[in-house]
Amino acid sequence: MKKTLADINFKDKKVLVRADFNVPLVDDVISDDNRIISAIPTIQYLLDHDAKVILLSHLGRIKRSEDLKKYSLKPVAKRLAELLGTEVNFVDEISRVTLQTAINSLENKQVLLMENTRFADLENKRESNNDAILGKYWASLGDVFVNDAFGTAHREHASNVGIATNINESCIGLLVEKELAMLNKAIINPERPVVVILGGAKVSDKIGVIDHLLKVADKIIIGGAMSFTFLKAQEFNIGKSLIEEDKIELAKQYLQKAIGKIILPIDHLMSKEFVDQSGINSTDANIADDYIGMDIGAKTITLFNNYIKEAKTIIWNGPVGVFEMKNFNKGTLAICETIAHLNNVFSIVGGGDSAAAAIQSGFKDKFSYISTGGGASLELLEGKPLPAIEVIQDK
Ligand code: ADP
Ligand code: MG
Repeated sequence: MKKTLADINFKDKKVLVRADFNVPLVDDVISDDNRIISAIPTIQYLLDHDAKVILLSHLGRIKRSEDLKKYSLKPVAKRLAELLGTEVNFVDEISRVTLQTAINSLENKQVLLMENTRFADLENKRESNNDAILGKYWASLGDVFVNDAFGTAHREHASNVGIATNINESCIGLLVEKELAMLNKAIINPERPVVVILGGAKVSDKIGVIDHLLKVADKIIIGGAMSFTFLKAQEFNIGKSLIEEDKIELAKQYLQKAIGKIILPIDHLMSKEFVDQSGINSTDANIADDYIGMDIGAKTITLFNNYIKEAKTIIWNGPVGVFEMKNFNKGTLAICETIAHLNNVFSIVGGGDSAAAAIQSGFKDKFSYISTGGGASLELLEGKPLPAIEVIQDK
């Protein structure tokens, strides 16, 4: 078991907290502050326990110097201060004297947020490549490290693994603790039947999870763009639908290994172009030559719902259609609605777009848990160790 907040005395300590403030920003305006809200309990706990809180997070990807302006954490500091109801001292540095001076003058119950850790990526991707000197330097700024950034727990960066390997004391934060508990509840001795719903566009990212989930799940329902690689493997026509040719063989293997376990669409809503216009329902699982599969069809909605209604545990990752387009959101919203009306079911959602769909459906609160981490939750479901959690001290 990893150390948690309860295992450490934080009084008078400089506590480095890796949070996940990687929020969507449009012209310095935060369009979704869910990740900031999710980080509050840990920060509040530390303030209540007389710590000096030093926050670190990445934001976006930094490749060129132009990105520095676009991805400053300054707007996050402002929103965080509002949510905490306390001042947040923002330091627009990730190293140097200004930062050190600001940290050294922190008093108990004060919060400091330093600039985007990925600003270090401008120089040989030092943050993202877990540069040994950088991790050691950041670790030297504090006494204790708390990792509460679940969204990057599958990555080995200087601001998580680097700090944790170079500091005396470390633990996971409340968000990470909750994420681990919820995701593990779905895969370790879950209530059966376990129904997994997979969709979305990133077949190569998600296909690995099937292998492991085949051991856990009673049914794996596949929709969205992902389904076309599987349908093609069964020699259906898929028209101009999205496909990953190099994954067809793997899809075939899974289908053979899991006879009856993998459920694929039996009809689709199709469109001639990838635009938001009314679609045509196919007659069967085939897609006509010059059409694109955009959403699951009416018969498939019923088919999928019948399996979902039987479930006691549901793991959902990836929309089953192009839900951003009004004409093609029906399948995804129907699934949200079905899950929302179930009693006594444990349902978890992972993935940014699936979470957005759950919120859009208006049934957000009906899900047992919506994970803040897409990639990290998938890797955990795949049975892979998360490096930024592994490195935290055991109790
Ligand atoms: P998540 O963020 O939940 O992990 P992904 O990022 O893998 O999900 O996939 C979400 C994207 O998949 C959405 O932008 C959606 O439009 C797209 N998508 C779903 N179905 C299709 C489809 N049939 N064709 C093309 N794109 C699709
Ligand atoms: Mg996504």
